[in-house]
Amino acid sequence: MKPSGTKNDGSSGTIVKVAGPLVIAEGMDNARMFDMVIVSDKKLIGEIIELKNGKASIQVYEETSGIGPGEPVVTTGAPLSVELGPGLIESFYDGIQRPLKALWELSGHEIARGLNIPGLDRKKKWSFEPVAKKGDKLVGGDVIGSVKETILVDHKIMVPPLLSGKITEIKKGDFTVEEVVAVLEDDKGEKHDLKLMQKWPVRIPRPIKEKLAPKELLITGQRVVDTFFPIVKGGTACVPGPFGSGKTVIQHQFAKWADAQVVVYVGCGERGNEMTDVLMEFPELKDPHSGEPLMKRTVLVANTSNMPVAAREASVYTGITLAEYFRDMGYSVAILADSTSRWAESMREMSGRLEEMPGDEGYPAYMGTRIAEFYERAGRVSTLCNKEEKRFGAISVVGAVSPPGGDLSDPVVQSTLRVVKVFWGLQDKLAYKRHFPAISWLDSYSLYHDDLVEFFAKRTGPEWSNQRKAAMRILQEESELEEIVQLIGLEALGDRDRLKMETARTIREDFLHQNAFDPVDTYTSIEKQSALLKIVLHFHKEGTNALDRHANIADIISHPLREEISRAKYIPEDEVKEKYASLTGRLTEAFAELGGVPR
Ligand code: ADP
Repeated sequence: MKPSGTKNDGSSGTIVKVAGPLVIAEGMDNARMFDMVIVSDKKLIGEIIELKNGKASIQVYEETSGIGPGEPVVTTGAPLSVELGPGLIESFYDGIQRPLKALWELSGHEIARGLNIPGLDRKKKWSFEPVAKKGDKLVGGDVIGSVKETILVDHKIMVPPLLSGKITEIKKGDFTVEEVVAVLEDDKGEKHDLKLMQKWPVRIPRPIKEKLAPKELLITGQRVVDTFFPIVKGGTACVPGPFGSGKTVIQHQFAKWADAQVVVYVGCGERGNEMTDVLMEFPELKDPHSGEPLMKRTVLVANTSNMPVAAREASVYTGITLAEYFRDMGYSVAILADSTSRWAESMREMSGRLEEMPGDEGYPAYMGTRIAEFYERAGRVSTLCNKEEKRFGAISVVGAVSPPGGDLSDPVVQSTLRVVKVFWGLQDKLAYKRHFPAISWLDSYSLYHDDLVEFFAKRTGPEWSNQRKAAMRILQEESELEEIVQLIGLEALGDRDRLKMETARTIREDFLHQNAFDPVDTYTSIEKQSALLKIVLHFHKEGTNALDRHANIADIISHPLREEISRAKYIPEDEVKEKYASLTGRLTEAFAELGGVPR
């Protein structure tokens, strides 16, 4: 089979079969599992996903049409890796970290094959400010200096994880990512050039000192999330995305407001035009805190459905590796992956072509493990660096899932729910009613409440947990009462239940509902969230007391102060404290006058 003239050192082989994105090559004896390979003279990029007796199964990240048996395959001898260094922020990459803008400039939107453009610009010079000195003894992860990458991101240049030694030379000035900025001499006397850029294989998690328990809220400013279904810094969440349920708006809200220093957005196999929307819309968004374009702290990895399925897998790994790199600098990073279902589908397709034994609904048996491994790369950590220093970083992952027909029993959803700790159940039913964010308060959950007791107690007061629980109880009771109302009408309810229904309505309409497009309502600090919830619960308490004094339910539920309660969410942040005190005070006074039996 091997064409004459091909050097037979086992690092290059010959294609024997092409089946869509899967290419089988023989003669790959010296290749290793997960090696990156160059396929055919068209120089397509692929990765070895199975290797038996020199026969390699390769998933190819580019269109394979026109490629056939007899063509060469050469291993690069290295696993699929990403380039890490200044220039990542503000980039749009495809699944294998090729800069999309540069690809488009070369070949238009239908990207030509075999274009191999490096992830980081080779010509651009960055101003490097060293912090390490000649003679310093450093280990992997130690910071040698920094580059002001964007107005929002100070890019720390670190010793690559697996190196350690003494700095024998370090320079200050303007450098490209390939120029040497420092030299490190290891224990054996071997010298290593340190550059602004390092590389890391995407399938291997970057090393850390240790994983730590989460303890801080990832504030999103979205009331239903922060108050009822919070995610921690370093946490994992999953959000199903039925069409039209407000998924895009939610993702934009997170990208805008989540208190992360770096955001990585992975668009994985969504319809091409949807991804284009993201590419068009993201650069328009502004960071609300600084007024700077949001892209100044964002990396986009976009893998649209018109790219081959295999590239979806690469995009997920590329995204999480970029996130780990920024985490290692000591940052809180948020990664949004949309949609992980498309990734699972690509696993199913490759597995089918490899003729593996199919599991649930044709997905490979290892799908669950892969998904779990991905989410396990999230977390709050003590980053790699010397013993004396303590640097903390976190990766929070929000993965969208798009099960067919919104069916949550779908294997991808189920595998995801087994590993993530937060579930935001988006419901089209709520979206039809224009209740946004359309996160169902009855189906969603967060397992981080216990981790956050201390955090909330410090920020919003010790009564926080009880308030949240009380509000949730009222919402749950409302759903039970609704059934009764539907059967026999509102009149059948006692006054206390009527009041409960009214309070629940206030929680839903004046607290959970949040307009992303209103300048004040779009973001609510947790202090304000707490104040708003307290007002509603205060109304409920005073209302209940009034009923005890035989007040008329109509006087309570149509009290003029309710109008003010419903507008409380529009109170600007700096006026909340004062207005809250005034409103609750007036409520107490006004309700004290209701009912015949004196207090
Ligand atoms: P999806 O991406 O799920 O198809 P979108 O995120 O585009 O849906 O939302 C559809 C529409 O719903 C938006 O154009 C907007 O009008 C409305 N919407 C969604 N979320 C909100 C929100 N938080 N506040 C106000 N309107 C919203």
